[in-house]
This record gives sequence, C-alpha cells and structure tokens, in this order.
Amino acid sequence: MRVTEAGLEALNGRLAGAAPLDVLRFVHQTFGRRAAILTSMQRAGTWLCRLADQAGLDFDVVFVDTGVLHEQTRWTRDELARTHGNLRVITLSPERTFAAQTAEEGLLYLSVEGQERCCDLRKTAPLHAIRGRYDAFVSALRQGEGGARSKVRPLGLDLAMGALRVHPLAHVTNEELDRAIAADPGVVVNPLHAMGFRTIGCFPCTTPVLPDESERAGRWRHLASVQYCGINPVDRGAAEGGIELDDR
Ligand code: SF4
Repeated sequence: MRVTEAGLEALNGRLAGAAPLDVLRFVHQTFGRRAAILTSMQRAGTWLCRLADQAGLDFDVVFVDTGVLHEQTRWTRDELARTHGNLRVITLSPERTFAAQTAEEGLLYLSVEGQERCCDLRKTAPLHAIRGRYDAFVSALRQGEGGARSKVRPLGLDLAMGALRVHPLAHVTNEELDRAIAADPGVVVNPLHAMGFRTIGCFPCTTPVLPDESERAGRWRHLASVQYCGINPVDRGAAEGGIELDDR
C-alpha cells in the first residue's frame, strides 16, 4: 500500500478536530501491532501512554535510552511499564556506550557538527535499526511547542523509517495539556518537570528553563543554532513520492 501526501491530506481532513483518544483508536484499529508509541518520557508522551492504556489499546512503547539520560527518565520508563499493563515498553540502545564513543571520537556534543553525529549515533540510528517493524509511530509533538513543530499535523510521513508519523496532540494547547495531566493522578510524570525541565533529553544537552523562556530553550543551550535531534522529523511533501507500507 502506497501512502502519498495527497492521501494524507484526505486523512488529515478526516481527523481534523478529532480528540487525541480518537486518533489513538484510529491508529490502533488500522495498524494493530504494527503501530507503536515513541516517547522520550516527557509528560505529553506519558499522557498519551495513559490515554492508550486506559482505553485498553495495547501499543508497544518505544523508548531510546541514549546511555546519558537522567535517572529520573529511566525511573519514568520503569514506572510506566509497571503501572500500564496494556502497554509493552521496548528500550532501544546505541551500539556503543557513551564512554566508548567518547574515547574514540571525543565529546561530540560540544560542537554543532559533533552534536548532529552524536544524536544520529545515539538516538536516530537505534530507531532506524528497527525499520520495517512498525508502519506507524505515534508521538506527542504539538503545534504549541512552536518552532518547526508549529505546523505539525495529525498525520505525516517519515521517509527514513518508511512509516507514518501520528501526532494525536497536534492541536492540544499547553493549557489543555496542563489541565489534563493535573486532573489525572494516573499519568506518570517525569520528576524532572518539577525541577524546571520543560522538555526531556540527555543530561549533557538539557537544562531547566526559566518561566519566561520558550519550552525548548533548555535544549542544547550551549549550541545556539541547534533545536532538534532529528528523531522526530516533521513530515515532508509529495515531491518525495510517499511511502510504501506492508500489505496487511
Ligand atoms: Fe549526544 Fe547531546 Fe544528542 Fe544526547 S542530546 S545524543 S548527548 S548530542
């Protein structure tokens, strides 16, 4: 089955205004075990997991452990696995330890060029290593995050993974997210958020943010020009011809 940008337009039209849980149900019904939630264990992602678990949607949850995460993030992963019985948490890891990588290539994250390689080695490559296992990845990108994500749609294409990218929270505002999480004590919230971290990443490259800073100001603060690691590409257009999904 070939999925093109034109086909996505129609699907995005059908999903316009759909609640996050409705989008999750649509993906689960369409792809079954060939859909997974991809999360770094920040609160929007763990809220998505909570919605799926409560509704009995038995997604795999794919988590990339770069080897340089805060212990609170691994705790969140473990707590999610312990309390969300309908979900299966799968941890992906880079080929080399961070120590081995550093011994061979130095502290890559200190320069813009090095950061790109480090994120590729430690985040994107482990995900690309499972290319073909899933037809759809659900993640918690929101237009409210601003920047390149301000145009994110419910459905997009990931050409590198040959899969759909699904964003059930695309239109959820920061205020709506705050209210939903505050109202549900069953959501596993990464303790780093209470310490001022608005987003969650590797400890060398992620800091808390001040109240008047943007949500992603704490990412790669030492590299002014870097905003994203590349594991969650925002969709691309029809010129690339769409993607082929396995027949089901
Ligand atoms: Fe490396 Fe920093 Fe990217 Fe983590 S966020 S993979 S430490 S460059």
